[in-house]
Formats: sequence, structure tokens, C-alpha cells
Amino acid sequence: MGTDIVVVGSINADLVLQVERHPHPGETLLGTGAVTLPGGKGANQAVAAARLGASVAMVGAVGSDPQAPVALSGLRGAGVDLAHVLAVDGPTGLAVVTLADDAENTIVVVPGANAAVTPAVVDGAEAVIAGARVCVLQAEIPLGSVVRAAEIAHAHGVRVQLNVAPATALPRATIALADPLVVNEHEAAVLLGHDVARPEDAAAELAGLGAASVVVTLGAAGVTGYADGASWSLPARPVTPRDSTGAGDAFAGALAAGLAAGHPLTQAAAHATRVAAASVLRLGAQDSYPGKDDPLP
Ligand code: ATP
Repeated sequence: MGTDIVVVGSINADLVLQVERHPHPGETLLGTGAVTLPGGKGANQAVAAARLGASVAMVGAVGSDPQAPVALSGLRGAGVDLAHVLAVDGPTGLAVVTLADDAENTIVVVPGANAAVTPAVVDGAEAVIAGARVCVLQAEIPLGSVVRAAEIAHAHGVRVQLNVAPATALPRATIALADPLVVNEHEAAVLLGHDVARPEDAAAELAGLGAASVVVTLGAAGVTGYADGASWSLPARPVTPRDSTGAGDAFAGALAAGLAAGHPLTQAAAHATRVAAASVLRLGAQDSYPGKDDPLP
């Protein structure tokens, strides 16, 4: 029996430092709190989808340090299948997040064990990729592995949801396998090589790279997309954010869950904006993701 979703991606521990404002280069600041939480774009998206009721398998790696159980805790709690998660010698992927009072964050990611998710590891997971409805990818594991996962999924007729985050120069042939390609405004500009004044134009222009559909998330301004020759836009839900960390991953996980359930892209995106809005109301990434029976903004 296959799963609704397979995520081939990163698993991190997030060291979240609370600060009144972000430090300037060379400046030392006193923080107001620190906590270590499960994170990583891959794991976040897996947890977001699983909490909404999708069956999810994760392909990834953690290290041999005390951060590994922290990094896996959200996945375990959400019931994600971890049979294809390796435990390798060395450090687990680590993200150091500074979260300021204005709810803006800065993030530095050290890949650690995520570097062990090689194309050969992805090849070894072919059966679980082939058995899924949607293969969900980001860019926090070696790029050759993202390429390979997209190729395997596509070869087996599995829908590829490709989130080019962080912004990375993936081969155009891989981007062309995406349905949808999911990026934020910054990532859209990097992929296109220039800023675009109107986000709707960015989505249409990105579709020119060959992806069957494109979704551009716009933070508090919502989301815009392009598919079947037409642009569409949806507003964000009106909420007062407390912590936007992982909002994009909440959106991507919810989007994949909707697509795996057979919903059209715009319907899945509309639901995902509500899930992402719920996520910005609470601290952390995975801990902030709603369950399928929770009320949404
Ligand atoms: P992050 O890197 O913080 O995870 P991102 O840059 O990948 O986020 P965003 O475009 O900031 O992604 O946000 C993704 C989605 O989350 C948006 O399309 C929107 O639906 C929702 N969202 C984000 N910020 C807010 C907000 N302040 N209010 C309501 N919804 C929001």
C-alpha cells in the first residue's frame, strides 16, 4: 500500500533565539529566551500534511547527536513513516533562528546529516516514492538528490510538488517536472534572475520554465499562481502574526495534502492559506501546525 505523500527532504533541529530586534553585524545582543524545536523544510512539510490527515512517508537523515530525537519528535508525533530515515554518524541538521518581537526571523542552516541524503539513498527509496500520490521536494538536501527524486517520481507517474527553498539553481529540466513549482517572492526573483513588479507576472513567467503549474506565496499578501494558461490570486487570511517561522512549509504541506486528496490546485491553495494563517498565530514551525479538526482562521 502506498502513501498519499512522500517527502524527500531535510530534517533539522531549530535552535530558536528570541530577541527584541535582530543584531547588526558585529553587535552582541542579549536574547529573551531560547528553545530547541523540530524543524527542516522537509520535516515541516511532512508534519503539516500528516496533521491534516494525509498518510506521509519521509526520506531523509538525522545524525547521532542529542538533537536527533528532537528533530524527529514532530514527525513521530504526527505519525509520519520513518522507515526511510537514516541515522548517520555526526551532527543532525541545525537551523539557528532569531525571532524578533516584530515576528520577523533570520535563519542560518547547517546541513549536517542532510548531506547524507545522496542520490544513491534516493534510489534506494524508489519503491516508496513510486507508491505515493505526491512527491514533495525542497532544496535543503544535495541538489543531485532533489533532481533524482523528481526524476523517479515523474517516471512512475507521481505528481511532483517542488518548493525551490532556499533559492537554488536547479536544472531547468527538473523545474519542468514540477506540478506545482512552489516559491516565495524572493525565490521567484532568484529563479527568474530579476525582480518582477507584479507577482502574477512572476507566476506566469516561471511557468515559462516548463512547470505545469506555479504557486508564488506572498506572505501577508496571500498567494498567486498560474496553471492552464491562466493566473489566479488568493488573499491571505487576516490575522495578527506572532511567529511566521515555517508558514511557507505549513502552506506547502497543506497544499500537498489537498492535491493528494484529489482537490484542484486553487482549492488546495485556498485551504493551505488558512492552514498557514493558523501557523503564524503560534510559536515555532511544526508545533504551530493545526490538526484536521482544529478551527482555521
Ligand atoms: P517562511 O520562510 O517564513 O516559512 P515563506 O517566505 O516560504 O515563509 P510566505 O510567503 O511568507 O512563505 O508565507 C506562506 C503563506 O503563509 C502565505 O502565502 C500566506 O498564505 C501565509 N501567511 C504568511 N504570513 C502571513 C500573515 N502574516 N498573515 C496571514 N497569512 C500569512
